Amino acid sequence: MGFDLTGLMAARAGEGAELWSRYLNPQTAKVLHSVGLDRQWVRAQGPYLWDDSGARYLDWLAGFGVFGVGRNHPVVRQAVHDVLDADLADMVKMDTPLLAGLLGEALVKRAPWLDRVYLCNSGTEAVEAALKFARYATGRGRVLYCSHAYHGLTAGAMSVNGSKDFTAGFGPLLPATMVPLGDLAALRREVVKGDVAALIVEPVQGKGVHLAPPGYLAEAAELLHANGALLICDEVQCGLGRTGRFFGFEHDGVEPDLVTVAKTLSGGIAPVAATIGKEWIFAKVYSNMTRVLVHDTTYSHNNTAAAAGLAALSVIDEEDLIANAAGRGAELIAALQRAAERYDFIMDVRGRGLMIGVEFGRPRSLRHRARYAPMTLARKGLFTQMVVCDLFEHHRILTQTASDHADVLKLLPPMTTTTEDVEWFMSAFTAVMDAVSDSSKPVWHFAKGLATRALGRA
Ligand code: PMP
Repeated sequence: MGFDLTGLMAARAGEGAELWSRYLNPQTAKVLHSVGLDRQWVRAQGPYLWDDSGARYLDWLAGFGVFGVGRNHPVVRQAVHDVLDADLADMVKMDTPLLAGLLGEALVKRAPWLDRVYLCNSGTEAVEAALKFARYATGRGRVLYCSHAYHGLTAGAMSVNGSKDFTAGFGPLLPATMVPLGDLAALRREVVKGDVAALIVEPVQGKGVHLAPPGYLAEAAELLHANGALLICDEVQCGLGRTGRFFGFEHDGVEPDLVTVAKTLSGGIAPVAATIGKEWIFAKVYSNMTRVLVHDTTYSHNNTAAAAGLAALSVIDEEDLIANAAGRGAELIAALQRAAERYDFIMDVRGRGLMIGVEFGRPRSLRHRARYAPMTLARKGLFTQMVVCDLFEHHRILTQTASDHADVLKLLPPMTTTTEDVEWFMSAFTAVMDAVSDSSKPVWHFAKGLATRALGRA
C-alpha cells in the first residue's frame, strides 16, 4: 500500500499522549493531564484551535509566539506548496540558493545599519551564533545577561538564562554574569573590567513580561560601546511587529550590533531563524575562504524555510499587522487596567503591543487576602495557573503562566487579533476574576479540578 499519511493519522488517532509517554518526554503528557489541558487538537486556523469534539478555542499562547501571523496562513502555505511543487534543488550545499539570499536582503532592509544575516533553524541557534560572533569579534570571553532572561536552551544560550531551574546540573557554563534588568550601575561595574564581549537582552522579556525602564537600552548601548563591548538584542519573541514596531528595540531608539529573530519569521509553518549583524563582525568571523564554514548548520539555507520567512514578512506588511498589534494591544492593556481597578488581585498590567503580562499579588482587601494566601503558600504561581485553567476549561482560551515562580498571566495573541477576540478574552477574564472573588464559594472550589487531577484522581 505504501506510505499513506492521512490513513496513518486516522488509524492511530488519539494515541498521541500514550506515544509521548512511551517514546518522547513522558512528563509532557503528565503535566498536561494534571492541569487539564490534555485535548486532542484536530484543526487550526488563524487564532483558533478546534478539539476532537468540534469545540473552538482562542489560542493566546500562539505556540510561545510562533504564530504571529496566525495558524495555517494561506499565503505562507501557498509559498511552501510552491517550493515543493517547483522540484527545487534544495540544500546542494555547494551553492548559493536564491531564496536564502532574498530572505537575507529582506531582513537587512528592516535594520539599515546592519549588513549581514546568518540563517538557522531555531531561536536558540540564532542566539548561539550571536554569542559566538560577539566573542570572536571582540576577542573577549565573558557575556552579560539580564535578570529573568530567557534566550534558549542549547549550552551557550542556557549560560545566559536568568533562572537556575534551567541551568542547575548542566554546568560548567560559558563565562557569563547576570546584571539586573534596568540597573545601569551594575552594567557599568561589569563592562569596565574590560573582558566583556556583549550584553544580550530581550527588549521585552518573555519570562514575566518585564520591560527595561525607558532609556536603559540607549544608555546600555553607549556604555557597552565606550568599553569595547557589543549590544545583542534578542528579538526571537518580541520581534517582527509584536510590540507595535518591527523590532522591540525601536521603542528605545537603539541600534544593536547583533539581532536575533525566529518564531514569527517561520509563518508558523517552517522553522527558520536568523542572526542579523554588522559587516565588521561577520567579516572577522568569516575572514577568509578557509573559514567559510566556521559557523554553519546543514539546514540553514533550505528553500522551505526561506520561502516561509519571505511569505511571513510579506503578510506582516500586506495585512498591516504591526499597526494591528499596536492597536489591539493598546485596547487590551486599557481594558486590563480598568479590570485592575475592580479586582484587587491584579497588581500590575504591563507589556507592549500584543505581549502582555498581568501580575497577580496579595489583595488589599482582607476578604480577598484570605482567598489568595493559601494558593500562593502552596506554590508561587499557583494562583495564575488556576486562572489559566479556568480560562481554558470554562471559556476555551489558551494562555500560560509567564514563569514558574511568579504570579504572571502571559498573553501572546497572534498579531492578526481582532477587537472581537479582545472582547471574547475580556468577558472571559472578567468572569474568572468574578469567580475567584466570589466569597460564597470556598477558595479551593476554584482549585478543585487542578488539585484532583494533580493527585491523579481524575
Ligand atoms: N530567545 C527568546 C527571547 C525566546 O523567547 C526563545 C524561545 N521562547 C528563544 C530565544 C529560544 O528559541 P527556540 O525555542 O526557537 O530555540
